[in-house]
Formats: sequence, C-alpha cells, structure tokens
Amino acid sequence: MKLLPLVVSAGLRLALVLALAPAAQASPWAEVRAVSPGPSAAIGEAANGCLAGAASLPANGEGFVQIRRERLRHFGHPVTLAFVRDLGVDQAQRTGRYVMIGDLSQPRGGLMSSSHRSHQNGLDLDIWFQFADSPSQAQRAYPESQSPPSMVRADGLAVNGYWGREQRLLLKRAAEDGRVERIFVNPAIKQALCESETGDRHWLRKLRPWRGHDAHFHVRLKCPQDSPACEAQSPIAAGEGCGADLAWWFTEEARKPKKGGEAKPAPPMPPACRALLANQDLARKQ
Ligand SMILES: [Zn+2]
Repeated sequence: MKLLPLVVSAGLRLALVLALAPAAQASPWAEVRAVSPGPSAAIGEAANGCLAGAASLPANGEGFVQIRRERLRHFGHPVTLAFVRDLGVDQAQRTGRYVMIGDLSQPRGGLMSSSHRSHQNGLDLDIWFQFADSPSQAQRAYPESQSPPSMVRADGLAVNGYWGREQRLLLKRAAEDGRVERIFVNPAIKQALCESETGDRHWLRKLRPWRGHDAHFHVRLKCPQDSPACEAQSPIAAGEGCGADLAWWFTEEARKPKKGGEAKPAPPMPPACRALLANQDLARKQ
C-alpha cells in the first residue's frame, strides 16, 4: 500500500514534465530584440535563414492593420513591407476595409520558438482571410487568445459560410502580384477556387495546398535582387494544380498523417546568419 502513492507521484511528475515541455524548441533568434544595421538582405531559405537590415512594418496603414504586435514578428525585407502597403491600398479602394496582417519575421529573422518553421528570411508573411472595419476593431477583436474565423468546414472537405467574394479577390490580388513566389492555403480553399474561378486562371498555380491555413494564408515572396545569398524554393510544377495533386489532399493518407517518424537533423545555419546572431550583444536584452 505504501508503494502506490510513490508510483502515482512518479507518474504524475512525468506527466507534468511532458505537459510543460515546450511544443517547439526555444530558439536563440527569439531573444533578439533589435534589427541589424546596414543594408537589407534576405539570407538563406525560408526555413533556414535570417534577415539583415530588416524594416519594421507599421502597426497599421492605408487598408492594413497588423495584429499581435507583442510577438515582435513585424519585421521583413523592404520588399515584404512594400507588398503589404500595396495590398492594403488595393483593399482600401475596393472594400473600404482593412486586411489583417499576422506574423512576418523576427528582428533578424531566424527560427521562431513557436508557430512556424519558416518565416526566417524576411520574405514570408501571414494574412488573415477575415477583414477588419478599423485598426482598433481588429486589435479589440483578436487578442492573442482569439483567432479570426476559419474559412473551412469542420470536416475539412469544403469552405464554409465565411468564405466569399472578398476572400477570393484578396487571394487573387496577392497571387497575381509579381513579387509573390507562392501562397500556402488549405486544400479546401484551393478546391473552392478551382471550381469558382473563370477567365484567367493562371494565378491558381501559385496557390499551394497545405494543412491548416484555413483562417490565414501564407505568402512567400521571391528572392529580391539585393539578396544574392537568398535561396529560393524549388519551382512550382506547371499547370493550375487543380488536378491529381490537389485531390491527394482529400485522401485518407493525407488527412490522417502518420504520427512520429524520425525528425530530420536541422541543416547547418548559413555562415552569414551565424554572424548576424553572434554580433548582437548590444541588442540583447539583459
Ligand atoms: Zn506563415
């Protein structure tokens, strides 16, 4: 009888340790508080890179508002900020409403401690599908604990009632932008567009189906000319991507991915990123 409490307490301790283990590993990049001086450059890949001379996205501007500023993920290559501004102006003129911008990158890019594997080299950004009436309405409605609504049904097979013309046109405008390399969206959203779009459907090619991405879409910009160390992802296959590869996302295999598997070892950090991380003692918070 005496052993039982001991066993339970050991089990509880283990459960507690597991519960408290961070979902993702803490990243030293998440401690960086200041951008690096000097010219802007996207370095390395979206999922293994960093950002020199980052620009800071304002909290809001014509037709856009960024939510969750306290995350300190509002930094990007200047081309990313220009893209946001242009998208905002376009939405303001068309709808009179505000596009809600989510995470860009950290002050010097690099791996985040949560939420994303990519967003590392200042060329990735998240945009919510839901619009806001004003910057203050967006801040009030969507604190950290409250996400904008999903556009996809609970069964994942089709879009829901939140999906509409404004969302279609926002995505189309983003995908038609020459600076955009690809956009990740939920398979059900791509499917809806494959069915609804008429006329020039060329832009559908840039929409890449991916899990999640049902309340926001993820834009990846092309490597800018001022960034020779920027590494682009392999090009998207030709065609609209509305056929077999989209259909695969609705199969049992895709919808119930196997858990576990061996984690791939992290690739070595580009040397320029190592330098950017090391050379920030003055910027580090004490
Ligand atoms: Zn993203």
